[in-house]
Amino acid sequence: MKKLDISVVIPIYNEEKGLPELYRRLIDAVASITADCELIFVNDCSTDNSLLVIKEMAAKDSRVKYLSFSRNFGHQIAVTAGLEHTQGIAVVIIDGDLQDPPELIGEMFAKYKEGFKVVYAKRRSRSGESIFKKLTAKLFYRILVKLTGVKIPIDTGDFRLIDQVIVEHLKQMPEPAKFLRGQIAWLGYKQTFVEFDRDARKYGTTGYPLRKMIRFAIDGITAFSDVPLKIATTTGFVVSGFSLIVILYALISHFILNQTITGWTSLIISSMFIGGIQLIAIGIIGEYISRINTTVRKRPLYIVEEKQVDENQSLTID
Ligand code: UDP
Ligand code: MG
Repeated sequence: MKKLDISVVIPIYNEEKGLPELYRRLIDAVASITADCELIFVNDCSTDNSLLVIKEMAAKDSRVKYLSFSRNFGHQIAVTAGLEHTQGIAVVIIDGDLQDPPELIGEMFAKYKEGFKVVYAKRRSRSGESIFKKLTAKLFYRILVKLTGVKIPIDTGDFRLIDQVIVEHLKQMPEPAKFLRGQIAWLGYKQTFVEFDRDARKYGTTGYPLRKMIRFAIDGITAFSDVPLKIATTTGFVVSGFSLIVILYALISHFILNQTITGWTSLIISSMFIGGIQLIAIGIIGEYISRINTTVRKRPLYIVEEKQVDENQSLTID
């Protein structure tokens, strides 16, 4: 089986308007490096005409391949599926909304040729995104690095160029709640970055509403850190210690000072406080249990409804 030089994996969810420009810019960028390339579009069950546009491109250009999911499985799974079908020695992961400029691939490939196994794209700036998104993203990446101890690069998304060796390792990490950028950081190897200014989305709307962002953040943390569990334990001890002091104070004032503390207010405050702490702690444990649960179910990560990719995936890495 023939190996290609570069594979590009592009997750697509409702990007029909941007697809022609994306294709043109990607082909320009990659073809200037090598003719031996493939573009793998993964249609994450778009509700617009993205699949149709992709099929038209594939019909005209044999370098274009695609997978199409039976339902929306999410960005990380779409990228994972694409990676599993790559044949390139170097593999690029890029968003399909043109927020990641394809023109950067040349620079990434140059670094790759210097011997780096992972070249990720670091956002110097990100335009067109709400202050809220920028702020929460900044905060999240900093908390994540603190919590996990894994050197997950700050201010980077999944836009990167990785060696096929990394892809092979990722295949050995079949966690269903994916956090690819963390897994790649965890793998080690020589990693470096190139910087870029992230453009605003040209067409369409984000596929990452707040709900998905929070889910993704929780997946990232629970996949790489047990610190939240320890925080729950520590909080338990601190609150117990504090209540011991309050109990002593109440007993002393009742029996020794003969001043019984009365009042509904103190009762309700303390019981609700402890109730809240307990629920949060149970919730934290619940997040980890739910990870275990999805992992042991061992369902396939995704269901492909239609595809046009080269089948034999048994690339051997030597
Ligand atoms: N995407 C996907 N499935 C989804 C949501 C998004 O495949 O459920 C794709 C989307 O088409 C884009 C990439 O993932 O190529 C990043 O998503 P998006 O641009 O919506 O996220 P943002 O840049 O706003 O964080
Ligand atoms: Mg985007």
